[in-house]
Amino acid sequence: MSILIRFSGKRIAQPFKSVICSSRLISQDQKNPLDTNKNSNPQHYDIIIAGGGLVGTALACGIAKNKVLSEKRVLLLEGAPPFKGFSGGQYGNRVSAINNCSIELFKSIGAWNRISSVRYKPVKQMQVWDASSDALISFNHDNFSEDVACIIENDLMLDAIYGQLESTKNVTILNKSMVSSVELRMGGNTKNIVCLKNGDSMSCDLLIGADGANSIVRKEMGVDVFALNYERMGLVATLELVDPGDNSVAWQRFIPTGPVAYLPLNDTMSSLVWSTTPNDAKRLAALAPNEFVDAVNEAFWKDFPKNDIVTNALGALNSIMGSNNLANRQYPPKVKSVVEGSRACFPLGFLHASSYVSTGVALIGDAAHRIHPLAGQGVNLGFSDVTNLIKVLSDAVYAGAEIGDKHHLVQYEQSSLIKNVPLMIGVHGLQRLYSTTFFPVVLLRSLGLQLTQNIPGIKDIFLKRAIA
Ligand SMILES: Cc1cc2nc3c(=O)[nH]c(=O)nc-3n(C[C@H](O)[C@H](O)[C@H](O)COP(=O)(O)OP(=O)(O)OC[C@H]3O[C@@H](n4cnc5c(N)ncnc54)[C@H](O)[C@@H]3O)c2cc1C
Repeated sequence: MSILIRFSGKRIAQPFKSVICSSRLISQDQKNPLDTNKNSNPQHYDIIIAGGGLVGTALACGIAKNKVLSEKRVLLLEGAPPFKGFSGGQYGNRVSAINNCSIELFKSIGAWNRISSVRYKPVKQMQVWDASSDALISFNHDNFSEDVACIIENDLMLDAIYGQLESTKNVTILNKSMVSSVELRMGGNTKNIVCLKNGDSMSCDLLIGADGANSIVRKEMGVDVFALNYERMGLVATLELVDPGDNSVAWQRFIPTGPVAYLPLNDTMSSLVWSTTPNDAKRLAALAPNEFVDAVNEAFWKDFPKNDIVTNALGALNSIMGSNNLANRQYPPKVKSVVEGSRACFPLGFLHASSYVSTGVALIGDAAHRIHPLAGQGVNLGFSDVTNLIKVLSDAVYAGAEIGDKHHLVQYEQSSLIKNVPLMIGVHGLQRLYSTTFFPVVLLRSLGLQLTQNIPGIKDIFLKRAIA
């Protein structure tokens, strides 16, 4: 595992050839406002959002839908070509476990109707177990009365948010618009200047860095960053199951190379996230489909070596607590096939910026924090940033403050840190705890997991943290 503290603040060269193209709000026959303002007199916006991923797009929509902020002129800059929309049909291989707070955000910006009318899969229970021992934990609400999470395709979320942005007046979206550098207000300027790769520039009072884990905005802020490369890849794939059924359980097994998880998509399909070494991920991605299916089934079903001391200690703990782990265990569905072309690999890492804000600038989503997907929380934390930031900005503007005022932005930082830091430390700790088969660690984690499973109060705390 490599550790990096403090990025130097200098940018990595971008191989992308950027061309300003029209967005939804700037049609081909309209004059692009940027053309008349090249460099000398940059077009001014109240807010520029750098990065139109799930988090940046949700923020643009949330600002436009907020009564106090809706008159603010917003520019959303995205380096990639225009989003092609969600076509339905085959399930996408990028899906997320979405918690209640994020669903509330979707409802507040009007995006939930589209998502819920197309498709999503409620998860009623999560079962997590250790391949190196008999320890297991399951999360569900009493009598399965509420969902633990919902599995939603990333493209459908983006489509639903874009659908809402179409009806807003004050948001301009520019695709193929890679931010190459920024001059920040915190450096003494009266406004932020944002320069694009093609030489165009624009200015704003508030610049939001929603440009992901390699954020240029964060680098220009010069904040310290604590970053770890887990030297693991997340292999994703869409799987077809042998037996159709209710399929409302999310399964995660910690095997020696890392966690492997199925997230349910419908009665017959699940989405795989398999965290493993880069070489193993490459090997798995290249296997013939039937060999890959065998490898997935083996990862969930194979008996890995267990230490007798751990097995006996767990047995003793369970008999003291009156629980029978093996009897409570449920077994995951077997996989029949993998959808062609659905396998893809993503690097996994941990990152946390020491500060999310300064005068006229704020970071949200993966630009501020990035975590391992084992708890399915990364984009949920980003959506929680969006909710916090919209509240702080709207309170500030309502009180007559200037939109980039640092005193107000600090409130956003504080409310986000309170939520993000404990969760990030917890997820990172789990990643470390489960990345070894060293028997004393296996013993401790197995006893810990079993105690958590058997003491409802502790388990409820974990469940509340994950879904709220
Ligand atoms: C395998 C895997 C599974 C995951 N599963 C889950 C899950 O179940 N639940 C969950 O909550 N999270 C999950 N996550 C995490 C989640 O995907 C991320 O946290 C989330 O996508 C971050 O969104 P973002 O918008 O902040 O950043 P990004 O998705 O990185 O978006 C950044 C955007 O900015 C653009 N951009 C970058 N640089 C520039 C620039 N210079 N100029 C202009 N535009 C730029 C990019 O093109 C991109 O569109 C998972 C992650 C992985 C890898």
